[in-house]
Amino acid sequence: MALLTERTLLGPGPSNPYPEATAALAAPLLGHLDPEFIRILDRTCERLRTVWGTENPLTMPLSGTGSIGMEAAFANTVRPGDVVVVAVNGLFGTRMCEVASRYGAEVVRVDHEWGTPVDVELVLAAHPSPAIVAAVHAETSTGVRSDIGALGAALRSRSPETLLLADCVTSIAGDTLEVDDWGVDIGYAGTQKCLGVAPGLAPFTFSERAWQRRVENPPVWYLDLGLLGAYVRGGPGGRAYHHTAPVAMIASLDAGLGRILDEGLPEVAARHRAAGQMLQDGLIDMGLELFAAPGHRLSQLTTVRVPDGVDSAKVRAQLLSEYDLEIGAGVGEFAAGVWRIGLMGRNAAPERVELVLGALRRVLK
Ligand code: PLP
Repeated sequence: MALLTERTLLGPGPSNPYPEATAALAAPLLGHLDPEFIRILDRTCERLRTVWGTENPLTMPLSGTGSIGMEAAFANTVRPGDVVVVAVNGLFGTRMCEVASRYGAEVVRVDHEWGTPVDVELVLAAHPSPAIVAAVHAETSTGVRSDIGALGAALRSRSPETLLLADCVTSIAGDTLEVDDWGVDIGYAGTQKCLGVAPGLAPFTFSERAWQRRVENPPVWYLDLGLLGAYVRGGPGGRAYHHTAPVAMIASLDAGLGRILDEGLPEVAARHRAAGQMLQDGLIDMGLELFAAPGHRLSQLTTVRVPDGVDSAKVRAQLLSEYDLEIGAGVGEFAAGVWRIGLMGRNAAPERVELVLGALRRVLK
């Protein structure tokens, strides 16, 4: 069978996986209750704790992409009528409003201009004592980082009962992430971005505070953290079968995490920062204008305005056909006016920056 074309994936995700993660997919398959697999699962959860910056016992990969993490977060915490304040500064904040409302939340939406970070004062002013405050750490639709630590600190002193929920899909393993220090109670992520693993799992972490206030018997059986925890953490009677764990994907995540931790988390974050800076400097040198607010730009995902008179889709198609290089379009009203260039996981490297800058220079000539 012919292999698929190998692309350089510099869009908003998926990124090209770390080779260790790809190699693990070809290992012999184990049963999901095999002691050898359970060792891999335990190690994966331990490695995830390190990457999240947490001691939370309930830290695990959920079966599904990043969105299943968002779904699990709300399904296990929202009771009908609960006030959920959502900071919206892009597509994924908007999606959180939709998901929370499906579980009966009274959503208080705090809109921000796209391209700007979450404004802590504005979010706090939205409601005096919400059950949950939710925000996106790295907004992939706009290329903006928000200060979740500042939001957590402000919430703790103002309304200590409120749970803080953070979307870390694009930040995990590409930026500093300190869930415990920042006071995040519920975090979810995806494997296909800076973790450098194929899409298919949603790393998830849930604090003791969140556990105390969780919804027992949530409306989605598949995402019931009580049942999932009984498999992942085990109990007096051993591991209770809930659903067949995606063993190959978990082995791949374990290998990707091993690769990242061998390099070192600060080193990985620094590599992302350096590559992002090099790209952003290069784009500015070409006369292009960056979209995200200065001082709040993600390194792992750069948003850049499409120059006047340039057909955005045509440029992306040309990069794909001539360079096997994928970059992303913008989102919503910025679909044709912005490109999104990801440097995630192994792609956070100078040679990838040179490749995309060189290709863009030629195509825009
Ligand atoms: N949240 C953010 C910030 C994302 O970037 C994405 C995907 O790009 C998601 C949530 C949803 O993740 P998935 O597409 O893996 O379901």
